[in-house]
Amino acid sequence: MSVVTRFPPSPTGFMHIGNARTALFNWLFARHHGGKFVVRIEDTDRKRHSEEAVEAIIRGLEWLELDWDGEITSQFSRLDRHAEIAQELLKKGEAYYCYCTPEDLEEMREKARAEGQKTFYDRRWRDRDPKDAPAGIRPVIRIKAPLEGTSTIEDHVQGSVSVNNDQLDDFIILRSDGTPTYMLSVVVDDYDMGVTHIIRGDDHLNNAFRQKIIFNAMEWDVPEFAHCPLIHGPDGSKFSKRHGATSVEEYREMGFLPEAMRNYLLRLGWGHGDEEIIPTDKAVEWFDLKGIGKAASRFDFAKLENLNAHYIKIADNERLLKLARPFFEHTPGLTLNEEASRRILEDMNHLKDRSKTILQLVEESAFYARTVPFDYTEKAQKILCDGAKEVLETLCTSLESLESFTAENVERICRETAEELSEGKLGKAVMPLRAAVTGTTVSPPIFNACAVLGREETCTRILAAVKWLEKSEAA
Ligand code: GLU
Repeated sequence: MSVVTRFPPSPTGFMHIGNARTALFNWLFARHHGGKFVVRIEDTDRKRHSEEAVEAIIRGLEWLELDWDGEITSQFSRLDRHAEIAQELLKKGEAYYCYCTPEDLEEMREKARAEGQKTFYDRRWRDRDPKDAPAGIRPVIRIKAPLEGTSTIEDHVQGSVSVNNDQLDDFIILRSDGTPTYMLSVVVDDYDMGVTHIIRGDDHLNNAFRQKIIFNAMEWDVPEFAHCPLIHGPDGSKFSKRHGATSVEEYREMGFLPEAMRNYLLRLGWGHGDEEIIPTDKAVEWFDLKGIGKAASRFDFAKLENLNAHYIKIADNERLLKLARPFFEHTPGLTLNEEASRRILEDMNHLKDRSKTILQLVEESAFYARTVPFDYTEKAQKILCDGAKEVLETLCTSLESLESFTAENVERICRETAEELSEGKLGKAVMPLRAAVTGTTVSPPIFNACAVLGREETCTRILAAVKWLEKSEAA
């Protein structure tokens, strides 16, 4: 049997993290088995439908690099086919017309409520002669659900789950206006798309019992099911905006890498021994339904950041710069021109070691993309005072006459200046240098940063700091 999995999101406007994990599991399972991963947009709710919402899902899948097979299916475009199956079920005697009026239904509802029943429809049209049909009523079509016994689903995550059939009513498959219900559409689409495995959130477990009735009635093979526990927030309640970002796009905007996101989402609900770092090729090799956890997992932002830090460390430097570019463009005061790009690339190994997200990478490398004069942070301003002027001027003079402007030589000059002016206390030379060159008090290794900037730029920055210092002293 060739495996076919599916991802059938309802376009809600964004791709929820939980949906992304479902997509990932289905994708991994299909790729592991050399099967197919198909995408279907469940877009039958036309009142709320928008193309932008569909695009948000596609962008999410593309960003996560979860490629799908074949064309994306629109459920809405297949309504005729779904209605056709309702008719077929009718012909097979597995479904029937129900002519109940809203008043009839209300009456039944009340009776069921009073009797504490789980279902309310009393199946009054199930075996009635259609000749009894009242005039002027457009009927719905209902499925004949089993009347007795229990229904069981052998779920790959939940185990064997049974319900008493008295909890499954003869639900509607075709409305009186001729449109199919969601329950019918899903089954017909899954069958027509050849879906063999349904991996989804356990909020759909109840639906599975109803969907199985339709599969059985059509004598179609029932797909395998794996219903995964939903994702919870750190406090144990269902993961929601209250806990932080819930949409995939927000994580991209915060500077997470897709491979880190995949690794994190995989571990959020699936395990392979103690492995935490699972690159995608390993994930494809190892993924199975057995590894899906039975308990809900809690979203852990720190863990996601640590994984992202790992993937940033091993990422290609040019790629990181490319990913950082839009962030630079959106930050006033930063210009990522050719020279700034060269500097950042040259120092990337230090910069990426210090960054958990692309956003942090941009913060760490911002000083390479500034032009003199620039602002100094409050802490840097405190360092640029009193004795700093002499230190900076001495440093500048020595640096200007350096034969070769390397990190080692910049360090030597700093040491010599510290010997000369501050009893050998290196910090007294390094701190003003860092403040002058980067505008801050934290930076990647500063001697190297000076070497990357080059003699001219380093000295320009030092002199600009001296000028700033003089001005602020005079004020
Ligand atoms: N459209 C449903 C959702 O977005 C998924 C239904 C299914 O997986 O069967 O929750």
